[in-house]
Formats: sequence, structure tokens, C-alpha cells
Amino acid sequence: MAVLSMRNPATGEVLGTVSEATPEQVRQTMKQARAAFASWSATALSKRIDYLVRLRHYLVDHGEKLAHKISQDTGKVTLEAFMTEIFVTVDTIRFYEKHARRMLSPQKVPTGLVLWPKKSYIHFKPMGVVAVISPWNYPFQLAVIPVLSALVAGNTVILKPSEVTPATGMLIEEMFRAVPLPDGVVSVLHGGRSVGQELVSARPDKIFFTGSVATGKKIMAAAAEHLIPVELELGGKDPMIVLADAHLERAANAAVWGAFTNSGQVCMSVERVYVHESVYPKFLQLVTEKAAALRQGYPDQAEIGSMTSPQQLAIVREHVADALSKGARAVLGGQPPADEDSLFLPPTILTDVTSDMKVMQEETFGPVLPIMTFSDEEEAVRLANASPYGLNASVWSMDRRRAKSIAERLESGNVCINDVIISYANPYLPFGGVKQSGIGRYRGPFGLQAFTHSTSIIHDPGTRKREVNWYPYTEDQRKLFLGLTRLLFSRDRKWERGTLGAIWREWKRLF
Ligand code: NAD
Repeated sequence: MAVLSMRNPATGEVLGTVSEATPEQVRQTMKQARAAFASWSATALSKRIDYLVRLRHYLVDHGEKLAHKISQDTGKVTLEAFMTEIFVTVDTIRFYEKHARRMLSPQKVPTGLVLWPKKSYIHFKPMGVVAVISPWNYPFQLAVIPVLSALVAGNTVILKPSEVTPATGMLIEEMFRAVPLPDGVVSVLHGGRSVGQELVSARPDKIFFTGSVATGKKIMAAAAEHLIPVELELGGKDPMIVLADAHLERAANAAVWGAFTNSGQVCMSVERVYVHESVYPKFLQLVTEKAAALRQGYPDQAEIGSMTSPQQLAIVREHVADALSKGARAVLGGQPPADEDSLFLPPTILTDVTSDMKVMQEETFGPVLPIMTFSDEEEAVRLANASPYGLNASVWSMDRRRAKSIAERLESGNVCINDVIISYANPYLPFGGVKQSGIGRYRGPFGLQAFTHSTSIIHDPGTRKREVNWYPYTEDQRKLFLGLTRLLFSRDRKWERGTLGAIWREWKRLF
């Protein structure tokens, strides 16, 4: 049986091991999740929410301890683990407590006069077993929030957490056991790619995937075999556009936080800065001073922890080396970690970068902030949009109209004005990407309804013996439909001769 080892990336300390699920366990888990679906989907929403309330209490009571364990697993500082993993999760639970009923209740929609006396509504029906496959950069909330969303909507769930952070996967499993949820409602399968593949081939009813573009494409291809609906939350190369009239100090603080938080391992981190040439010298000075003052360490008394995965650190180093070899300048950092085995990569600021460098093209996912200038708004929008990704972006200006006009022209699933990353923190807003950053939305009403089949129901009282469009076809039906088409949809909206008589005769045939 394959085993995953758990290791603290900041200290190298070995934390233990966990066995990977076998193909047989994956099949059994799918069977249990299917069996649990009937009663979980029939459980009243208020009761399902009660489980979430218990989970919220658990998270509040154990939040600090959990954050500490997440930082052991990832190398991030504990405060960041608390703010971004625990706080965001409890805030989302509260959002569902307040609004899930409204978002999942049947929604009446108008039914046109022609369809009188029918009534129509949308019923949000649970889909079945949802597979959630999650990444390592926010290994708690990027697993738990989709799981909770699927559960609230009435699905049972199988989670496959990242093999890079298996200790957090175990924490999540313990948490669901502690609540506890009925058997089979949530299961956790530990393991790497092959367990993910087994899970996809076990034919869940929906796949919710967060991770890289390359894996997203493979999952979508495998899901296509059985037409399993997929939601893909993928990578980003998020641009930040700083106009000449921006609050420069705030923009500099945001660039530094947005690029270096979680050691830059954020799908929505600031990965490219475009700053107006007139304010570039001042902006660069502010950003460099602020970044130079950051403390790297673990687990506390620091702003930046270690990176989580050695593979990712190698990619970041490759991007920086590529940029330096093509003429970029590191005004801060740029060098590898002091000790070869360390995952503490110093924050790096690059200038003199060009659009052909990897650091401006591909997702770096590390503590690197490349900065370029632009001379006018059109150029800024063109540069920002010249990317295969479109996850998040930010626009910085004190002119609201100008900022909004640029924000709306960016090819991005999310845009922040005078802020970075934060759109994700508002559970009322849908979240997701365009272009290679993904397919689908979660969070917000659309995001919850995405875990359901929107079922259209139209209801006739059933008292008339036939409908006007049914057999047998008559000359009066022809006159009625022609007449109505002209009356309702033509430019002059005229009554056609003979329509009224046809309507009357057809009316009598209904009863
Ligand atoms: P990854 O694609 O390597 O792995 C993600 C998950 O997929 C893991 O659990 C992995 O075991 C599993 N997996 C790998 N191959 C699989 C396969 N063939 N079938 C089924 N499962 C498979 O991604 P990662 O390195 O863990 O995460 C980093 C990436 O995630 C970055 O690109 C980042 O931008 C992206 N990300 C996106 C968002 C978002 O919300 N858009 C959030 C966080 C991270």
C-alpha cells in the first residue's frame, strides 16, 4: 500500500505518514456516498444547516490549533493560516446559515399569457455524489468550502485533498468525524494523482476541481467520457494596473502584500504590475522599501513563511533566472535560499522585465513581483489582457469612473478596484476564472446553485381536456397561431381578420 509522508516544509521535521487509498477503497467509498445520498438529499435544509453550525462551533473552538497545524503542513505563518483558512471558512458557513434557504428555495418565474393558466418555477435539485479535488496552497479552505457548498445543496461528497499537504487532509477528516455527519455523507480519500484518477473514473455526478491548468484539462478530458459536469478553478497570472492618480502608498502596500502573502503561492496573487510611467520611480521606491522590511520566518513574528513545495520553488527559480538572463534586474532578492535545502525563498522584485519573459507569461506562484511601465490606459489594458489566464486583476485610481471602465474591460473573472485578491473574501460574489483560469463559478448564489441541477417545472391545473397546440390539427389552429404571431410580434401589432373567431372555436375545443 502506497504511503504519503508528512513533513513540515519550514523546518524539515517529519510529521508522520498516511496511507493512500487503494482503488478498491475508492470504489467502496463511492458506493457508501451513493447509499448516503438518498437520505442526505431528503434531509431538511434546516437540519443540514444545523450540521454546519456545529462545524462553525468546532472551528471557533479549535481554530488556533488548526491554524497551527496547517502552518506545520504548509510553512505559512500561523496568522495567515488563521485569517485565510479558518476565518474565511467560518464566514462562509455563516453566509450559508443566513442565505442558503433563499438561494435554494424554488424560484417562481413568469409564465407568458400564451401559456395560461400554467405556473412555472425552478427547483434546485441535488446532483448526487460530488468529487472535490483540492490543491496544496490553501489546503484547508479550498477543500472545505466546496465540500460545504455541495453538502448544503444536498449532495454527498468525496474529498481528495492534495498529496503535498496530507496532514491538512487528515485534519479535515477528523473535523468531519467530530461533527459528526451521518455515515457516507462526507468521505476523505488520501493520496496523489492516481487516487484522483480513480475517483474520476468512479463516475461522481459532479467534479469540483481546484489546481493547475494541466491537471484541469486532464480531468475535463476524463470527465467527458461520461459527460460528468466539471467545475475547474485553475491558475492565474493576475495583473495590477496602477494609474497616475492612484493612492501610491496604498497601492505599494497592496502590491507587496498581494505578491508575497503565502509566499506568493496564491492563484490570485499579484503576478504582474503595470504602473504609469509618471509615478513609476516613486512606486518602485515605496514597494522596494516595504518589501525589504518584511520578515521571513516560521511560525510567528514574520510576514512571509516558507514555500510549501520544493517543485514549486524550482519553477520560481527558473522564472527568475529566465528573466535575469534576458535583461531583467532584481532590485530586491533574486538569489536562491541561503541553504540549498531551505524552502524560504527571499522576496524578489524585478524591473526591466519584458512581456516575453516567463515571469510575465506563465504562472510563477512564488514570492516574485515583476514591474513594468505603461504610457496610456489603452496600453495598460492591452498588456493586462495579453495573457492566457484571467482569474483576478486590480485597477488603482482615485477616479471611480475611469477605474470602473478599465475594470470592466479586463478579461478576468474577478476584478478589485483599489484592492487586491479580496473579491474572494466576499461570499456574496461568485468566484471563478475566464480563459485558462477555469470554468464555472462557486460562492455567491450562482456558486451554490452550481451544485444543483436547475430543474424547470411547469405546472398546469390539468382541468382542460386538451391544449391549443395538441392534435388533431385544424385550420382554426393555423389562423390562431398566424394571427397571434402578427398581433404579438409584428411591427404594427394588427389583428388579422378571422383570428378572433378561430380563438373562440379553439377555446371551446379545450374543454
Ligand atoms: P495540481 O493540479 O498539481 O493538483 C491539484 C489536485 O489534483 C491534487 O489533489 C492532485 O493530487 C490532483 N490530481 C493531479 N492529477 C490528477 C489527475 N490526473 N486526476 C485527478 N486528480 C489529479 O495543482 P496544485 O499544484 O496542487 O495547485 C496549484 C495550482 O492550483 C496553481 O496553478 C494554482 O493557481 C491553482 N489554484 C487555483 C485556485 C482557484 O481558485 N482558481 C485556487 C488555488 C490554487
